[in-house]
Amino acid sequence: MKKHNFSAGPCILPQEVFKEASQAILDFNNSGLSILEISHRSADFVAVMEEAQTLSLELLGLKDKGYKALFLQGGASTQFLMVAYNLLKKKAAYLNTGTWSSKAIKEAKLFGDIKEVASSKDKNFNYIPKSYSIPDDIDYFHCTSNNTIFGTQMKEFPATSQPLICDMSSDIFSRELDFSKFDLIYAGAQKNMGPAGTTLVIIKEDILGKVSREIPSMMNYATHIGKDSMFNTPAVYAVYVSMLTLRWIKSKGGIKAMEELNNKKADLLYNEIDRNPLFKGFAAKEDRSPMNATFNLVDDSHKETFDKMWKDAGINGLNGHRSVGGYRASMYNALPLESVQVVIDLMKDLEKKI
Ligand code: PMP
Repeated sequence: MKKHNFSAGPCILPQEVFKEASQAILDFNNSGLSILEISHRSADFVAVMEEAQTLSLELLGLKDKGYKALFLQGGASTQFLMVAYNLLKKKAAYLNTGTWSSKAIKEAKLFGDIKEVASSKDKNFNYIPKSYSIPDDIDYFHCTSNNTIFGTQMKEFPATSQPLICDMSSDIFSRELDFSKFDLIYAGAQKNMGPAGTTLVIIKEDILGKVSREIPSMMNYATHIGKDSMFNTPAVYAVYVSMLTLRWIKSKGGIKAMEELNNKKADLLYNEIDRNPLFKGFAAKEDRSPMNATFNLVDDSHKETFDKMWKDAGINGLNGHRSVGGYRASMYNALPLESVQVVIDLMKDLEKKI
């Protein structure tokens, strides 16, 4: 039986994608070869890479606007240092909204002076800081659009005259934004885009070439741009499955359609969290993430009962992250509304039982 998968990442992908991706392991494009045994230089795979790059830019509304799409390895965590390696001359500003922002700050400090413009650490990152100012004498401003662990999401992005860099690992392709405001966007594939193993980097070319340090080839965005994301062997299968998922997003009506469904799912669940006296939401209401809903039991003594209920109902991955406790329902693009309804029904059942 297919489980209701609320895992935070790697996570659920569309069933259609799983089917097509498994077929390609046996026979890719009726070639008599598995996708796992072909050269990354073969015409069939080069076409996959090109389509994945084109679809990414197209879905984000960034085609023909001076951006390149790269599919790199090393996870979003490698981007924490690549961003600084390639863009930090002297000073950069970072907004600290959680574990991942903190890790990005730590890496960037190896390359220059980092100004943390604001942090929500005082309240265990349950909100997004709003009133802060960004200095002018910086090389770029970095933020994390969606905080996977704490369940907060930036609804607005600050205006800055300097390049705007964003880690969108856990909400890319989930909501409409003016993506042209951003100069560099990165996202590990393993949420809304595909399996673990590749990281999408969308980069405005004109922000490069400003630092004077020597950059090792693999760490240099220019290297990967120059070789169309084929400088070394890319994560062939991860890029292929990402491409299938991007096709799926497009066929369903693009980001707009994803956002409509994501908002429906999130509204349903958050309404129940607020209505049900046994539960309380973790994140500040105005900053709640539609991707990752974090909530706790008011009385932890019901934990054993509730955990048994959801596990028996075929739900996977509802446990909260250790730094928040309680529960986290990750509702990425591919999670059906019916799965959210199952959790809500269980929350109501618990209320009746108690
Ligand atoms: N940023 C965010 C917002 C994340 O959620 C994660 C991982 N879940 C990362 C960065 C790190 O990604 P990776 O494991 O691909 O390095």
